[in-house]
Amino acid sequence: METDRSKKKDIVSFDYEELQSEMREIGEKPFRGKQIYSWLHEKLADDFSQMTNLSMPLREKLDRLYEIRKAELVTRQISKKDPTEKYLFKLFDGCMIESVLMKYDYGNSVCISSQAGCRMGCRFCASGIGGLVRNLTPSEMLGQIYRIQKLTGERVSNVVVMGTGEPLDNYDNFLKFVRMISDEHGLNIGQRSITASTCGIVPNMKRLAEENLQITLALSLHGSNQEKREKLMPVAGRYELSEVMEACDYYFEKTGRRPTFEYSLVKDVNDGEDDAKELILLLRGRNCHLNLIPVNPVKERDFQRPDRKNALAFKNKLEKNGINVTIRRERGSDIDGACGQLRRRYADAKKEK
Ligand code: SAH
Repeated sequence: METDRSKKKDIVSFDYEELQSEMREIGEKPFRGKQIYSWLHEKLADDFSQMTNLSMPLREKLDRLYEIRKAELVTRQISKKDPTEKYLFKLFDGCMIESVLMKYDYGNSVCISSQAGCRMGCRFCASGIGGLVRNLTPSEMLGQIYRIQKLTGERVSNVVVMGTGEPLDNYDNFLKFVRMISDEHGLNIGQRSITASTCGIVPNMKRLAEENLQITLALSLHGSNQEKREKLMPVAGRYELSEVMEACDYYFEKTGRRPTFEYSLVKDVNDGEDDAKELILLLRGRNCHLNLIPVNPVKERDFQRPDRKNALAFKNKLEKNGINVTIRRERGSDIDGACGQLRRRYADAKKEK
C-alpha cells in the first residue's frame, strides 16, 4: 500500500556504519547490519526473503520497517552499432531516469544519472528541458549500477556520473554514493575508475577536492572564454571562468588527479580558429585531458555538429600545440545516445497519448 510504503525507510541508502547503528536502534546486534549490507551491496539482493542467513522473524521485521526500493526497468535498448545499451528506469514515485552501459576492452562502464531532470539549463542539452524534478538518493544512484550488473550478469568496473543531472547540485547524496560504490564491503569499484562531470559549481568543486577522494573530475567547459561559455551554459553567469579554472587546479593539487575538460563542439558556435587558439592558451601548461564531443543534435534545440573534417582539424590544431586531446568516440547513436534523450522521448510519447 502506498501509505505504508512511504513510512518505510530506504535501507539501501544507509552506509556500512549507519546500517550497523540502525540495527542497534531496532534492538538487533550490529553484526546483523554487516550481514544485511553484504546482501544489499555485494550480493545485490532485492528482497528481504533472499537473506537466508537471517531468521524469518528478523526478515519480517525488516520488511515492516524498511524498503528495498526497486528501479523498474521500462526499456532496454541495445545498440546494433557498438556494445552499448541504454536503460530507462522508473523509480518508486514514478520518476524516470536513464543510464547507459558501455562495454570496453578494459571492462563495463555505466553512466548514471544523479538527478531526475536538471536545473542547469545548458542550451544544447536535453536533460534540462523539463527542469529539475528531484534529487536522486544514494540508493537510486547505486540502484542503476546494481540493476545493470544483475541484468547483464557482468561485473561493472567503471562508473561515470555523466547522465542526467548535476552531481554537485546534489552534493551530499552524490558523495555518499561515491563512498558506498567504492566501499570494500560493497561492489568495491576503485575510485580511480569513477569519473564525475560537473558544469562548474565552484564552491562544491573545492569542497570535493577536500574529501580525500581519488575520483576524476571532469569539467564541462564548452567555451574558451567567459562570454562564449555564458552563451551555452547559464551556470557560467554565476562563476567566472577564471574561478572555475582555479577550482580545477585546486582539485588537482589536492587529489593529484588530472582533470578532464569536456568541450561539446557546436558548429559555428565554438568550433572556429579563434576558439581553438583561445582554448590552447587556456589549457596550455595544465596537466589535463581535453575531450571533444561533437554535439548530439537534440530535437528541441537548434544546434549542429561540425563536419568530421572540421572536428579533426580542430583537434589537430590543439594537439600540435601540446594539448592532450581526443574526440569522444560516438556510441549508441542509434539508441537516443545524447544525454536525456531517451527520457525526453518517453515524456513526449506520454503527452501524445
Ligand atoms: N551536469 C554535468 C553532467 C551531465 S552531462 C555536467 O554538466 O558536466 C555530461 C556531459 O555531456 C556534459 O559535458 C554535458 O555538457 C554534455 N552534453 C549534454 N548534452 C549534450 C549534447 N546534446 N551533445 C554533446 N554533449 C552534451
